[in-house]
Amino acid sequence: MPSDSALRIVWIYPDLLSTYGDQGNVLVLEQRAQRRGIETETIHVGSADPVPESGDVYLIGGGEDRPQILAAKRLRRDNGLQRAIAAGASMLAVCAGYQIMGSTFGGEEGQPVDGVGLLDISSSRGPARAVGELAAEVDAALDLPMLTGFENHMGVTRLGPGVKPLSRTIVGVGNGDGYEGCYAGHIVGTYLHGPALARNPALADMLLSWRVGPLAALDDSRYEALRQERLTAVLPS
Ligand code: GLN
Repeated sequence: MPSDSALRIVWIYPDLLSTYGDQGNVLVLEQRAQRRGIETETIHVGSADPVPESGDVYLIGGGEDRPQILAAKRLRRDNGLQRAIAAGASMLAVCAGYQIMGSTFGGEEGQPVDGVGLLDISSSRGPARAVGELAAEVDAALDLPMLTGFENHMGVTRLGPGVKPLSRTIVGVGNGDGYEGCYAGHIVGTYLHGPALARNPALADMLLSWRVGPLAALDDSRYEALRQERLTAVLPS
């Protein structure tokens, strides 16, 4: 059994939201914590179960419209995630999970559906499905290398004044306004699959360090080879 001091990683609703390898985000966080000698405990929260409030890092993935609507309803009713974030937990929300963090998003007929309101964003259905590789330059304040990932969504996302764009899109669609994702407090929202943290280990370290403080450097040559292959394939030369 992990000790009380183990880093608690909470994977929300894998039965509803986990597309394009998003569960890999859980594995990357576990690995990068453990390689620094930090013990981890991972909790998979099914959609019929309460979301624990005592987690350190929360992860939620992408999904299709109907499971996304169901997940939003359950998270709104449950309120555990909202309490955990208020208590200082960090979070990575991907695609459908990103849209759910906002005030509203577009349902399967484009109808507005209420989100949980943890991010000052609202999403709706865009003119065309955004599918393919994405590369984006991260907001300088975060001091992270270029983002690489894969997107597949109908939604476009409008950012309010309470959040900052995570990155400026170079290849791909992202939010649909020239930017990709957003951040506020200790929450990062993104359209990136791939999974996002395997393609962008510096983003994983940012989520971890928000909870545990500065982290030792790791040998990231395998991650770097994947990043370079993907970025070389998509960036204009
Ligand atoms: N259903 C949402 C959309 O199409 C999210 C898709 C996803 O998570 N991949 O915008």
